[in-house]
Amino acid sequence: MKALRGKVLLLGRAIPVLALLGFGHCGAAPAEDPVTVDALLAESAKYLTSEPTKAQQPLERLRTLQPSFNAVQNDKYQRYLASSLGYQGRHEERVALVESIVQKPQSPANRARLLYELIDGNAALGRFESALQAMNESILLLPDLQHTTEKIAVLQGALALLHSFRAYDEALEFADRIHDLGITQNNAYAKCVGLTDKVELNFIRGNSTAALALVPDAIRDCDADKNLFFSLIVRTNVAIHLIDSGQYARGLEASLPLMQQFTVMADSSDFLTGLQEAVARAYLKLGNTQRAHHYGLLAYQRAQAGKVLQLQQETSETMATIQRAQNQLASAINYYDINLTLKKKALNEQQQKNLAYQRVRFETRDKANQMALLEQQSKTLSIEKELQQRRYQNLVLLLTLGAVVLTILGAWLIKTLRQKNLFRITAEVDGLTQVSNRTHFTACAKNCFAQAKTPVSLVLFDMDWFKRINDTYGHATGDWVLKTVCHTVKAQLRKGDLIGRLGGEEFAICAVQSVGQTEDDVRALAEACRAAIAAIDSGPSGFDFALTASFGIATRNSPTPHTYEETLVAADKTLYRSKNAGRNRVSVYQPAQDPQTQE
Ligand code: GH3
Ligand code: MG
Ligand code: MG
Repeated sequence: MKALRGKVLLLGRAIPVLALLGFGHCGAAPAEDPVTVDALLAESAKYLTSEPTKAQQPLERLRTLQPSFNAVQNDKYQRYLASSLGYQGRHEERVALVESIVQKPQSPANRARLLYELIDGNAALGRFESALQAMNESILLLPDLQHTTEKIAVLQGALALLHSFRAYDEALEFADRIHDLGITQNNAYAKCVGLTDKVELNFIRGNSTAALALVPDAIRDCDADKNLFFSLIVRTNVAIHLIDSGQYARGLEASLPLMQQFTVMADSSDFLTGLQEAVARAYLKLGNTQRAHHYGLLAYQRAQAGKVLQLQQETSETMATIQRAQNQLASAINYYDINLTLKKKALNEQQQKNLAYQRVRFETRDKANQMALLEQQSKTLSIEKELQQRRYQNLVLLLTLGAVVLTILGAWLIKTLRQKNLFRITAEVDGLTQVSNRTHFTACAKNCFAQAKTPVSLVLFDMDWFKRINDTYGHATGDWVLKTVCHTVKAQLRKGDLIGRLGGEEFAICAVQSVGQTEDDVRALAEACRAAIAAIDSGPSGFDFALTASFGIATRNSPTPHTYEETLVAADKTLYRSKNAGRNRVSVYQPAQDPQTQE
């Protein structure tokens, strides 16, 4: 059962209570010209029962006229001023003013009105003992009060204070007395107020059956009294009860039009805040977190702007729950923290009240509050733990994700590099012999021709009678020969020499002569290669045969051969000179012997 707010009753009903106490106002018109004290007093009284903030203006004007007041005017002025100060929240001044005049001889009705100012003012200031004492004094005045409305006002004032002390049983006794007055005096207002109080207090005490049983009479009597505000309070209590008892859809259905009525009738009422808070809880339970958040925040902001601690506490707790449901854990913790602070404050206030209550001989009950505080503390701890855990999980998740991404990236990178390398090798290297293919060799050799500052030679060689090997020992043996020859020749090459397969069993070496080297050095290289090939042991191929190759060397010269292509042609011609001269030999290009150059 959700408790209805302590001070709501006191503050929420301040206007009706004061209206009952009366300001001696009989619907007087605003001050006429010439401005009279009585007219200004009447204007103040009118505003204090309807729009309290507007009472400040006539009261201010009255202040300057004070020296001319008679005793009655002065009493009224002081009382109205005290009331106005209360509306402005200036309770210190209010109480001081009333204390200075309350003991003066005056009518019981006037004293009762002043005592109400002391009850409300002292309660607002946290001087609970003084408030209770003023309440007791006002109750003692009951037999002396002439009018039913005056009696109802005193009873209602006491009830409101006891309500704020959570002394609900005592408060209910006063509600009964108000209702009884209504019946014995046939006073519709007393019946309406008494029943409204009884409904509310029974809900608070957890006796919803009794409360609900009283609802139809309460609404009937308030409607009969044309008291729309109290009727609205009764309906609001019922709507909140529906939500509190888990009938969320019905509760919402009942609440939405009521909220509408509040905005028209009493927009600043704390009952509206309480209703919005309940509506937020209902939406949350129905899974509509967005609407829950909307109403929860409205209620929270209204409560923060107001002064009712219990409302602030409840709305902050509801917001925490909503934010938690929305997975906004940091915000939830924030609301829980606010809630915890408010609960501590409420507990502290309640302890003060209890102390005062004990002194003024009333029962005390703060155990429930202390339990609630303990529960709250453990709730905050557990949500902090949850947040911590969530953060840790997020971190682990992030790290795992990072590792996975890195692994994938790394694997992708390695694969790509490997593939790239493979493509490069496939594109550049001859698959059988593992030397540069013709395209790659040509490109590199051309590059050498373009870059080299020293002479560049091309050594071409072609296997002798290779067809015969293929034909005699098979193609595989031919392949073996090509591989072995390349392997053998590569072992002879110097740093910077490049070998490539030009096609079939024909190969080329691009040899850049180092500084100080001559064509003789290239010739020596070719000779070493020739000898190495001739020395190859064919045994591993499974056959016994001799291997030889013929070589042709051409060196870039001026004017010809100058380009790579020209030098290659020259080397090729020279190679055929070796073939024609009996094979297995090295020939060097001699421009003078070249018929082409001779021409
Ligand atoms: P010569 O001394 O005049 O150069 O005679 P040759 O038999 O070496 O020359 P020819 O051009 O008549 O024969 C070359 C042979 O090389 C023909 C071809 O089948 C063979 N051949 C070309 N490429 C390959 C290869 O990759 N593997 C094998 N096993 N044989 C090849
Ligand atoms: Mg050949
Ligand atoms: Mg050939």
